[in-house]
Amino acid sequence: MITGRVLIQGGGIGGLVAATALAQRGIEVDVVEHRPADSVLGVGLIQPPNALRVMAEIGVLDECLAAGYPGGGIRVIGPDGTVLADAPARVPEDLPVAGSGLQRRELCRILLEAAVKAGARLYHGVTTAAIADSTDGVTVTFSGESAPADGRYDLLAGFDGIRSAVRRHLFGERYEPRFTGFSVWRVSLPRPAELDRTVFAFAGPVKATLIPLSANDCYLALVAPEASPQHGLSAPGIAGQMVAMLAPFGGWIGALREVIPGQDSAAYGPIEEVTVAEPWARGRILAGGDATHATSPHMAQGAAMAAEDAIVLAHELDRAQRLDQALTAWYQRRAPRAGLVQSYSTALMRQEQGEPTEADLRLLELPLPAVQARLAQPY
Ligand SMILES: Cc1cc2nc3c(=O)[nH]c(=O)nc-3n(C[C@H](O)[C@H](O)[C@H](O)COP(=O)(O)OP(=O)(O)OC[C@H]3O[C@@H](n4cnc5c(N)ncnc54)[C@H](O)[C@@H]3O)c2cc1C
Repeated sequence: MITGRVLIQGGGIGGLVAATALAQRGIEVDVVEHRPADSVLGVGLIQPPNALRVMAEIGVLDECLAAGYPGGGIRVIGPDGTVLADAPARVPEDLPVAGSGLQRRELCRILLEAAVKAGARLYHGVTTAAIADSTDGVTVTFSGESAPADGRYDLLAGFDGIRSAVRRHLFGERYEPRFTGFSVWRVSLPRPAELDRTVFAFAGPVKATLIPLSANDCYLALVAPEASPQHGLSAPGIAGQMVAMLAPFGGWIGALREVIPGQDSAAYGPIEEVTVAEPWARGRILAGGDATHATSPHMAQGAAMAAEDAIVLAHELDRAQRLDQALTAWYQRRAPRAGLVQSYSTALMRQEQGEPTEADLRLLELPLPAVQARLAQPY
């Protein structure tokens, strides 16, 4: 088992799971997060079985389920509200449910408390200013108020998201985010009574996804093609565009047009991908989660993959005698799963918009339930 001092850059989902899992093993962990303590980006998310299994390993499964809307399964409806298909999800033997939706801020609160309870030190409003890797340690200086003292760590783990500075430190500008040609509009809304599982509905080029997040809340995401990303949109402007995009929908989804205006959670973002096509670690520095394999959200697996990266890192540090062995084994275990999620999600996105490539069609010969069943297996 490898011990020592670990610095984690990024206090999002991957970073907080890594902090908790490593601190629970007696490793000294500092986490630097450049945002203030109370800011969480994003609306809600689905935790598929593999994500729930990570939550169970770090001891927060019950809290996640209590804070969210446990269930699983999907329903596809027509633009008029007619139910077209219902697909219940299989509950894995080691879990109480097949999935759960929850508010992102709730998940981050639960993970942050778990990391602190395990003994990790969290520094908000702080980032690394300079990083120097050598055979006997990574020497780091910090910027930001209330930063830890500059010093030496045995490992630097970059879970700093799609615009990762750690990725740039490792690979330069080689793996910058790529715009996929699709964007997503999101808002948190009161949960309609009809919404008891994840619902998909299509009208023309717009895909609507509705996810229950708690007894009271849900999350609406609209995905549509876009020639180039928009900039500087305000929450009211985004809400207005969402109302217009819902025009072809009737039934209870169409009725959401009445409640969207005035929701200050309305958010917009281009869907971007990152694929680091070489080992994600060099020397004593690694990058994981969205930093190395950001994916389109079509399988609801991006955060699950970041969480898996984090827990598998802990497993491999447990197992190996030397850091280089642990990081090689970590990458070899993680790359195939993250790659499958990324390529299948992209294929689904293009197929839904009628633009699949030959390679997409070959991949999609493997049905979605088969891919989900594979991902539901232990990582
Ligand atoms: C619309 C949409 C819906 C999605 N739905 C789902 C879903 O249902 N289920 C699912 O599993 N996934 C979903 N995802 C994917 C998921 O959001 C990401 O894959 C996940 O958040 C990645 O986790 P991460 O820890 O790698 O990065 P992040 O969660 O982005 O965390 C990175 C953290 O690093 C911090 N940071 C960045 N730069 C620095 C720096 N220089 N110094 C210090 N800190 C820094 C950031 O502030 C942030 O807190 C969705 C994504 C989108 C866009």
